[in-house]
Amino acid sequence: MTIPNQIFVDGAFRNACEGKRTSLTNPATEAVFVEVASAGPADINSAVESAQAAWENGWRDLPPGKRGEILFNVARVLRENLEALAQLEMQQIGKPIADARDEIGLGARVFEFYAGAVTKFYGQTIPVSRGGFDFTLRQPMGVVACIVPWNFPFPIACWKTAPALAAGNAVVLKPASLSPLTALALGELAHRAGLPAGVLQVLPGAGSAMGETLVTHRLVRKVSFTGSTSVGQRIMELASRDIKRVSLELGGKSPNIVFADADWARAAESSPMSVFANTGQDCCARSRMFVERSVYEPFLEKFVAATRKLVVGDPASDQTQIGPLVSAGQRATVEEFLADAKKKGTRFACGGGRPAGKGYYLEPTVLADVPTGDRCWREEIFGPVVCLVPFDDEAAMLREVNASPYGLSGSIWTNDLRRALRVARAVESGVLSINSHSSVHVEAPFGGFKQSGVGRDLGMAAMEGYTELKNVYIAES
Ligand code: NAP
Ligand code: MG
Repeated sequence: MTIPNQIFVDGAFRNACEGKRTSLTNPATEAVFVEVASAGPADINSAVESAQAAWENGWRDLPPGKRGEILFNVARVLRENLEALAQLEMQQIGKPIADARDEIGLGARVFEFYAGAVTKFYGQTIPVSRGGFDFTLRQPMGVVACIVPWNFPFPIACWKTAPALAAGNAVVLKPASLSPLTALALGELAHRAGLPAGVLQVLPGAGSAMGETLVTHRLVRKVSFTGSTSVGQRIMELASRDIKRVSLELGGKSPNIVFADADWARAAESSPMSVFANTGQDCCARSRMFVERSVYEPFLEKFVAATRKLVVGDPASDQTQIGPLVSAGQRATVEEFLADAKKKGTRFACGGGRPAGKGYYLEPTVLADVPTGDRCWREEIFGPVVCLVPFDDEAAMLREVNASPYGLSGSIWTNDLRRALRVARAVESGVLSINSHSSVHVEAPFGGFKQSGVGRDLGMAAMEGYTELKNVYIAES
């Protein structure tokens, strides 16, 4: 696959109107490897208008079975190109190749799920009190803008695009400036698989400059966004002007709660990847660990030993588990947090420095006994740093868990079923796992409480979110 370096509009690659380009750096080598066209407001305006035309003139009214067939074809073509897509993902963000392959496969599965869902997207019949016949319709909205981040570029592009298309909308997809390549490839491969021209437009470009043109475009009916809480706030504000629908998947500071009755040794072995996978650049990262005091020190010892075993290095190696951070800027941000921790005399159980050599690497870092008022404990770091504290009392621990403004994900480790259910109910978060670190299931809703967002990705909930609900009443007499 040649590296896509233009915008993808109306079924073809072309240059952006203003001729602007952005260079991409491979974070593992620090070398610039491609320049990609950067869309401006004029490109956005014309792409939204032709998406609207493609929607009105065909996609909206295509029989569901036909829509499903096209989406199945998209999944097949993605699988045929899995290796090439994985290589692109690795190059642009330094994602370890084994993870990149898994994530391209995940994107294809998302298309398969929604291809099947098209013909299983049932409405309701409602026994209204005046008699007659009452039923609901789920109707597509029109043009949906999908704005996605750089940490999981391909899967997140798929889990917004696939349900939006399955529900019968057209999509304008804006990838993050650091990671446009696999999104552009998705546009082209989907078109090759039979998606009509204009139904999926892919426009890389600077969020601050053209993202707002997209969000405020009069023909855009919904904005589906994943990224930082601050940009999410801005999008919600802009969308409020004409009551646009929004769904937002934002930041997190998720807890990992380990009770002494759990198989805590297993939890200690598996927990490093729950926070250090993707070099900690994961909205679901279990970055606050609460461990019951009676097992805290032995847990910490095992956890640190497992962390030291992680393979940090070249993303191209099949063995690598942890690659570089996405950019020099992201590493500098994480290092500011570490400097704050050092200044405060925080206990570094391991890590804290840069490995030798090129690339934006940082060692997986474990901070123990972190005061809960400190920045590292309270703020999302989005890098390979975890904070641990011991706890004595379940209720006090839960108050601290819920003191965070975020509420995205989390894990609970216990073998006491009643406790598991009690704590699962009490934690304010959209996604939880018990004796596991899984957060993402294609079939189940994913999203946050509080400042982690509104609306849901994945599952049937996401597809509902890309429709308007209409009620129709038919008189019988
Ligand atoms: P970001 O700065 O919020 O950017 C996300 C996307 O929004 C990018 O495509 C960006 O474009 C665009 N954007 C930036 N400013 C915009 C504006 N004013 N209007 C419209 N679009 C705009 O986030 P990021 O730095 O890419 O990712 C890191 C953050 O995302 C973290 O806080 C993380 O927790 C969160 N995140 C959350 C989830 C989740 O599922 N909840 C998943 C991944 C990441 P540019 O790249 O051109 O700036
Ligand atoms: Mg940003």
